[in-house]
Amino acid sequence: MSDNSMNKGGISVDTEHLFPIIKKWLYSEKEIFLREIVSNACDAVTKLKRLASLGETEPIEDAFKVTVKFDKDESTLTVSDNGIGMNEDEMRRYICQIALSGALDFIEKYEGDSNESNGIIGHFGLGFYSAFMVSERVDVVTKSYDGSKTVHWSCTEDGDYEFSDGEERSERGTDVIMHIADEEKEYLDENKLRSILNKYCAFVPVEIFLEGTDAEKDKDGNEIPPKPINETSPLWQKNPSDCTDDEYKEFYTKVFNDFREPLFHIHINADYPLNFKGILYFPKINTNTDALEGQIKLYYNQVFVSDSIKELLPDYLLLLRGVIDCPELPLNVSRSYMQNSAYAKRMAQHISKKVADKINSLFNTDRENYEKMWKDIKLFVEFACMRERKFYDRVKDSVITQLSSGDFITLKALVDEAKEKQDKTVYYTDSQETKSSYVKMFTDAGIKVALLDSFMDSQFINLVETDMDVKFKRVDADVASALKADGEMYENKDLEELFKKVVLGNTTVKFESLRDENTPAIITTDEQSRRMNDMMKLYSLSGNTGADIPVDSTLILNSSCSLVRRLAEKPDESVARMIYSLALLALRPLKSEELGGFLSDSYDLIKKVLD
Ligand code: ADP
Repeated sequence: MSDNSMNKGGISVDTEHLFPIIKKWLYSEKEIFLREIVSNACDAVTKLKRLASLGETEPIEDAFKVTVKFDKDESTLTVSDNGIGMNEDEMRRYICQIALSGALDFIEKYEGDSNESNGIIGHFGLGFYSAFMVSERVDVVTKSYDGSKTVHWSCTEDGDYEFSDGEERSERGTDVIMHIADEEKEYLDENKLRSILNKYCAFVPVEIFLEGTDAEKDKDGNEIPPKPINETSPLWQKNPSDCTDDEYKEFYTKVFNDFREPLFHIHINADYPLNFKGILYFPKINTNTDALEGQIKLYYNQVFVSDSIKELLPDYLLLLRGVIDCPELPLNVSRSYMQNSAYAKRMAQHISKKVADKINSLFNTDRENYEKMWKDIKLFVEFACMRERKFYDRVKDSVITQLSSGDFITLKALVDEAKEKQDKTVYYTDSQETKSSYVKMFTDAGIKVALLDSFMDSQFINLVETDMDVKFKRVDADVASALKADGEMYENKDLEELFKKVVLGNTTVKFESLRDENTPAIITTDEQSRRMNDMMKLYSLSGNTGADIPVDSTLILNSSCSLVRRLAEKPDESVARMIYSLALLALRPLKSEELGGFLSDSYDLIKKVLD
């Protein structure tokens, strides 16, 4: 089909091969053709600006812009620019004779695997041809800045093209006129076009105007000058020191449509050895209701590429939201490309380091605020620490812990104190509501109690235990030596037997002399078996049938409490049951069958008092 005459030709010997492929599956989303054609137009403007700045053209007075215009009657969609333009020779070189062999090899290799094929056009400079995904014919009218005569070119969907003579244009620039195929008429709809442009071109560096059928009018009937679709100098391109807090917040709201204030942001401006810019936000997340999923929008020189490339961030930072602009990745970067990309891995590491630096700087310079936001960020900091040792090593000195008193302390100080005074044991409670009597026993004895009330906390302490050579024990795990009284021990075998009759399951009974003389009994639960049990419960919640691991618990009878001694003199099973129930109650809410017994024992006791 190729024709050797100067004005007619076939795009390539393999066009029969290539065109159907472009149309069917080179892009998984057809709408991308508009991004390709509009970014070519922006590039044409950028190139001309560069020439002008180098003094290689006459100074240019007119405003640079790209216009997208649709005509339903003619079924055309036209993208026009007043950029560099092309002369006939350039048309032939850039548009007609593209080195397709590389692309064709690639296609042959991966034919049938549509995921792999996603990036082909961008890799091989075929972006222009994506217009054929929606067009039955594409015309180009272009005039180069060099003053050569206007070039008219027309190409059918089969790849046969023709140069023709036509009207001379007075202005330099290019019109790409797409004759939209019958089955693709949706691309002649203003809302559809606007939403595609908003998605891909919201930050491209040249003003883009969408010309609808009717110009917008104000209340007096005067035409309102059209507004560009895009913002040509997005915040991430600016120097961080030139951006205000409000600008960062506004940008976040605009890009993510989230009206809550993000907790903090990080403005990255890397130029060597990696070259990318971006702003990352830590969103305020309500862990009970929000899905824990962030979003990173990837741009290539201000052109939107994708928001589903997870490889840009380490998995433990996927909660972040933000934009990254990387001119070193191809415009049509695909997921499979990123998965194997050493560049993406280095970017992820760089971002992880920046996040750690930010956390350290908030800790060092803005402690009050840091403590306020800790509740919101600790989940993610702890998770990141568990996922990556390097991240943990970077931030561990900035990890803080809330105490039962509400105050904060650094993890390091808490651990140091435990090593110094508490036989390498950090005591904690998992709730501010229950176990308050236990907490009080510890705080009365001058021991700090950490409040570790999230699932992540319970996992995180495993890491701290091995790393910092310390143990964590919940306040009910055993009787700390600091809680014991010095006086002589009192033990009574009969009383022990009486309590053995009333306790539940595998609870052992023993005597201990506590500093607190008012509490007759407390229950302790073995830390390790309780942790196992908690894990199993979690598995069964997530659908697995985890066996219930028995938790070893002990009823400690306090021999320094006078009630215990008196009960030994006058044994009474219902009183013993009552003491056991009260000890249970101090530990956790009663289960319904326990509550029934406790209530009837209490009524009996009231009766006895009144009788
Ligand atoms: P790529 O943009 O990746 O090089 P394309 O197939 O999209 O591949 O475009 C091929 C070439 O055609 C471009 O590099 C550019 O030189 C030229 N070109 C495309 N569109 C325009 C335009 N609107 N104005 C000037 N030149 C253009």
